[in-house]
Amino acid sequence: MYTFSIKPAERAVISMLDLQGREINYLRVSITDKCNLRCRYCMPEGVDLLPMSDLLTLEEIRAVCRQASLLGIDRIKITGGEPLVRRGVIELVAMLRELPGIRQITMTTNGVLLPKYLPDLILAGLDGINISLDTLDREKYIRITGRDHLNQVMEGLELALASGIRVKMNSVLMKGTNDREWLDLISMARNKKMDVRIIEMMPIGFGKAYESVSNRDLLLLMKEHFPDIREDNRIHGNGPAVYYQIPGWMGSIGLISPVHGKFCDSCNRIRMSAIGDLKPCLCYAPVANIRDLLRSRGEEAVAEILKKVISEKPEAHCFSKVEGITEEKQMISIGG
Ligand code: SAM
Ligand code: SF4
Repeated sequence: MYTFSIKPAERAVISMLDLQGREINYLRVSITDKCNLRCRYCMPEGVDLLPMSDLLTLEEIRAVCRQASLLGIDRIKITGGEPLVRRGVIELVAMLRELPGIRQITMTTNGVLLPKYLPDLILAGLDGINISLDTLDREKYIRITGRDHLNQVMEGLELALASGIRVKMNSVLMKGTNDREWLDLISMARNKKMDVRIIEMMPIGFGKAYESVSNRDLLLLMKEHFPDIREDNRIHGNGPAVYYQIPGWMGSIGLISPVHGKFCDSCNRIRMSAIGDLKPCLCYAPVANIRDLLRSRGEEAVAEILKKVISEKPEAHCFSKVEGITEEKQMISIGG
């Protein structure tokens, strides 16, 4: 279904509504299934990697994003795997920045390579960075990620904050591993201009082996600790987080609760994996693959598939009912 709307810039643009009437304006693009960490709930040691020829080239990614922008997508999140291990990632940001309809390009990264790439990412036009970090303890970091890179991540985080780019930190809590660290993790927002978001573990891929810590329980703990905490209704980004503010803190706390909460009414996103699988909802198998079509029939064929994916976007996810989940791939190949 298409509707025409006037956006604030007084520019007539097409916006795309799904069958529920939700405006779909956000595309998450995974650019690789490779990673320099081995987070045990995402990509433990021994996971098979795809051959490079299976991945969309950077030009193919740009072609899909261009077609998506003509349908009303105006913000793109680059993710992975770890996006900063893909050669050409800086050039990709610059190429996407040149697409007329794209107003915002952000990236989700584990932060390890930020000290190396941050200046070029900013020059290329990146608007914001989400840094995933589940612990501030070096030993625990090694246990969770399989690598000893906490120092690089902390350096990357400080550099990003100093640069003035918008920074968010994402943490996933695991019972018995880092759930007791919630206070230290959210306290990163006390003196830093950065939102900290706690994401419930989703029963996808290797995440199925872990018990999800309920954000409802976490909120009770936060309220006990900070009786004057209050909901923060300002808009913080594109995501499904519910934000809270603690008086005197520079950043807010976001709770993303796919398992113990529902945010589907306001969902505005579709996803594309590194091999071109298109997914309108994280918990269901892809609706279509775009790579072979793009290679055989060219860029124009992409628009029809994108319309189909948006129109077939399910009303709601099913993370609270594991038997409804039809996605069988690992998070590393879906793109978190
Ligand atoms: N490598 C980048 C990073 O770590 O930010 C981008 C890709 S990673 C798959 C994106 C996010 O997905 C990370 O914040 C990670 O913690 C999260 N993630 C992975 N598996 C998950 C799961 N089963 N449930 C919830 N979040 C998960
Ligand atoms: Fe790599 Fe991110 Fe998955 Fe960790 S969560 S293994 S950093 S893709």
